[in-house]
Amino acid sequence: MQEKYDIVIVGSGVTGLYAALQFSSDVNVLVLTKEQKAISNSSLAQGGVAAVLDSSDDSFDLHIYDTLVAGGQKNNLQAVQTLIREGPEDVRKIMEMGFNYDKNEDGSPRKTLEGGHSRRRIVHHKDSTGDNIIATLLKQVEKHKNVEISEHSVVSSMNREENGFRLDLIINKTDKKSVFTNYCLIATGGIGRVYKYTTNPTVATGDGIRLAYEVGADIKNLSCIQFHPTVFSASSEGERFLISEAVRGEGAQLLNCDKERFMQKYDKRMELAPRDVVSRSIILESRLKNSDNFYLDIRFKSEDFIRKRFPGITKGCLENGVDITKELIPVFPCQHYLMGGIDTNLNGETSVKGLFAAGECAHTGVHGCNRLASNSLLEALVFGRRSAQEIQKRLNQNDKSIAPYKCEPKDGNKDLPTGLDDEIRSIMQEAFFVLPNDEKIESGFDRAKQIRQILKDGDYKKTIEYCEVLSLATVATIILGEIYEKQKALGKV
Ligand SMILES: Cc1cc2nc3c(=O)[nH]c(=O)nc-3n(C[C@H](O)[C@H](O)[C@H](O)COP(=O)(O)OP(=O)(O)OC[C@H]3O[C@@H](n4cnc5c(N)ncnc54)[C@H](O)[C@@H]3O)c2cc1C
Repeated sequence: MQEKYDIVIVGSGVTGLYAALQFSSDVNVLVLTKEQKAISNSSLAQGGVAAVLDSSDDSFDLHIYDTLVAGGQKNNLQAVQTLIREGPEDVRKIMEMGFNYDKNEDGSPRKTLEGGHSRRRIVHHKDSTGDNIIATLLKQVEKHKNVEISEHSVVSSMNREENGFRLDLIINKTDKKSVFTNYCLIATGGIGRVYKYTTNPTVATGDGIRLAYEVGADIKNLSCIQFHPTVFSASSEGERFLISEAVRGEGAQLLNCDKERFMQKYDKRMELAPRDVVSRSIILESRLKNSDNFYLDIRFKSEDFIRKRFPGITKGCLENGVDITKELIPVFPCQHYLMGGIDTNLNGETSVKGLFAAGECAHTGVHGCNRLASNSLLEALVFGRRSAQEIQKRLNQNDKSIAPYKCEPKDGNKDLPTGLDDEIRSIMQEAFFVLPNDEKIESGFDRAKQIRQILKDGDYKKTIEYCEVLSLATVATIILGEIYEKQKALGKV
């Protein structure tokens, strides 16, 4: 690793990797990633990527309409138009790069349906689309000699410098190093780990949002969190296994504790209503029945179909003792995706000069208050590319002179108290899970803020654990602060 780069990308998900491929060969690019390069939300994406690839039975207008309906009409229309009109070209590009999408006999993409989509437009690789796209992008990155990926490299803090940024890194858990860059693209994905139950992997602690917040970037709509309605519920705390919306897209029925279908009571679109509606319906039904036991039933499909269409889900459930070809799948909502984030324009620019953000950590307003299924891989491609193109344009215009470091990062002496991460997760789970809990919001907000302050003021060693708990506390404080203000305006707290 050198000391100076033209552009540092924090994150090796679809956003970071696809962005890295956009630069000319004379631009030196560093991609930093917390663990191994393939560990990210992107790699876990099952269902697919939504795009209007042919207009025989679909149109941009229909996809735009579905996105706005799912988002409760709270979306930024220009961002939605950009996503849906430009997205198909990016999807074609990754297909050319080798994305191995499922095909019909004539070679055309075999598209599937998910909740909120009025047409079959989800391109997918079985039920492991993200994994296949990441493998494809990583192969491409290897061919780009100007792009360096550094694994096990955690950005612990970021400082503005004249003409750029200094990023302080913790490499391989203990080594400390700083790199300087003219431009920084934050592509750090989600915040799932601020909850007890999430589909997100351990890397999703909201670091990028905390880093941007600390250098003064605007953060918006962080309380717009998507809770996926159907996540395998018979497993322990931490990362939970997603039962893709595509299972409902293929006709699976949602049942309550009495093994009865119930969605007709809440929405005429039944199981294929947008995610926020289905999650809310499950919570309301669970209160009505006083039970958290819910199930998905796909047994009416042939064993052969289920195994071929959903090999990963079939295997994952079997490992947890459920044969989905013969048994009901136990499901319950859990945290899945973040619609808000670091506020950006359509070129990924934040309110801080030289700082860009894209993908799940960013807020363009494209998803409104609820993301339409399979629109986020599309977002990662479109806004990752647009950010990189904007940075390339700036690099072409500006000289690449780099200012010297102003100061060295400081370390502390004290060990981090144990249990703060679990406390934050409990606060979030109690105060805001699918629906706000008006009795817990204010106390949760106060405590999250207090934990953040303790961490900031204490002379703690700047370990990875410290950085992650600080990120969780920052993210929890912003989320609960927003929720508190909303509920207060409604006279509920
Ligand atoms: C189980 C699951 C299924 C999904 N299914 C779908 C689907 O079918 N279709 C769809 O469109 N979307 C799906 N999504 C959502 C989608 O996968 C994500 O929103 C999207 O991939 C996010 O991409 P990203 O590049 O922005 O972030 P990520 O892919 O999450 O990448 C974040 C990267 O940032 C790095 N990072 C974080 N903090 C630091 C730090 N401090 N220092 C260095 N590096 C850091 C991480 O190591 C990681 O490499 C799914 C998500 C999950 C969890």
